[in-house]
Amino acid sequence: MDTGLSSEHQKLSAKAREFCEQILQPHELEVEENRGLPEASRPELRKAVCDWGFAGINHSIEDGGQGYSIFEQMLINEQLGRATCGLWAVMWQPAISLRFGTEEQKEQYLRPSCQGKRRGCFAITEPEAGSDPRRVQTVAIADGDSYRITGEKWFVTSYNASDYIIVHAHVDGDPDKPTLFLVDVDTPGIRHLRSPHFMHTFIFDHAELAFENVRVPASARLGEIGEGFALTKDWFVEARLQIAAHCVGAATRAAEVANDYAEGRIQFDQPIRDFQAIEFSIADMATEIMAGKSLLYRVAAEITPEVDRKRIHARVSALKLFCSEMAGRVVDRALQVLGGRGYMCENPVERLYRDLRVDRIWEGTSEIQRAIIGGQIKKRGLGVYTEW
Ligand SMILES: Cc1cc2nc3c(=O)[nH]c(=O)nc-3n(C[C@H](O)[C@H](O)[C@H](O)COP(=O)(O)OP(=O)(O)OC[C@H]3O[C@@H](n4cnc5c(N)ncnc54)[C@H](O)[C@@H]3O)c2cc1C
Repeated sequence: MDTGLSSEHQKLSAKAREFCEQILQPHELEVEENRGLPEASRPELRKAVCDWGFAGINHSIEDGGQGYSIFEQMLINEQLGRATCGLWAVMWQPAISLRFGTEEQKEQYLRPSCQGKRRGCFAITEPEAGSDPRRVQTVAIADGDSYRITGEKWFVTSYNASDYIIVHAHVDGDPDKPTLFLVDVDTPGIRHLRSPHFMHTFIFDHAELAFENVRVPASARLGEIGEGFALTKDWFVEARLQIAAHCVGAATRAAEVANDYAEGRIQFDQPIRDFQAIEFSIADMATEIMAGKSLLYRVAAEITPEVDRKRIHARVSALKLFCSEMAGRVVDRALQVLGGRGYMCENPVERLYRDLRVDRIWEGTSEIQRAIIGGQIKKRGLGVYTEW
């Protein structure tokens, strides 16, 4: 069994690391100070994503993407996860559900999104519908050859960088008909309510939007009526894998910063690394990262079109749960090793400490991942997680 990376994969990972260090990291403090990525910096970064060959890494060449495998996407995301302030989101990864669009929808939305000419955001969550999306109140009322969408959406990430929204609504108000719609942001009836501040500093916003009788043509429907969740399922697999990859990258950077500091920081006439308390803390960080990274590479490697999607879904939940919680523990230790310096916003570990907290919340909270894992064990047995 060969568990090493091929030379191609090593090269790709090194290139993504270089992209992160040369292109993304120089913008970190600018984003932190401006509470977002200034408009002026966006074109340069957009161009860099294209120049480096990272435009649409999660779609096929036919659909305008780079045709990378899931494993290769994971390698890239791991390295980009080292960047703070969500700068990894500079690299767009258009929603997987677009893959199931009509040829016309692909031409209008997917291909330009892969090329960086358009960008979409995803709106499922609402004031009354978070972990339980069946409680969605947004309705799409069929009206001749169009739909009228009414409702309120929260936490719409990257709204201020997007020109269309993928909206999850119940056709005719029926929760058995969850359906996705492609809605251009300038469609009359969409109102930006506000973009609140969050614990992390993120390059783009997380908006609250009102949809007031927003009329879209029937051709704006993505997939069939009632397919809303089915089309989002694959997205969850990729998004959770992406989060796990970011977490491993972020935890690694935090541990590196702490390890370097422990070497050079002298207190009581010796490097602090020579205190066993610090040495053990670094040892624990390294061990945790090793465990998370092993799981990440193992799960990503087995995701091929032939493998049963349900198994993948089950395992990716465990992966997201473990890596997000692992990264939280690692960054907390790293900050402690840095003492007061770790608490300064100019220190990447402080920013990572805030950045990583949301990874236990979005794309399914830790509790929801545990519920999925528990349900899978009941249905398929413990072996899904232990016999592989
Ligand atoms: C920064 C940020 C960006 C986001 N971006 C987007 C986006 O782009 N698009 C989008 O649609 N959404 C987005 N979200 C929303 C995110 O997916 C939800 O916040 C998440 O699903 C949890 O929903 P909630 O916040 O309503 O919490 P709730 O569902 O209200 O949960 C509250 C608490 O109850 C627990 N809980 C709920 N149900 C159960 C259960 N069955 N068993 C045990 N515990 C349970 C939860 O784990 C949590 O601890 C974003 C959120 C954040 C914070």
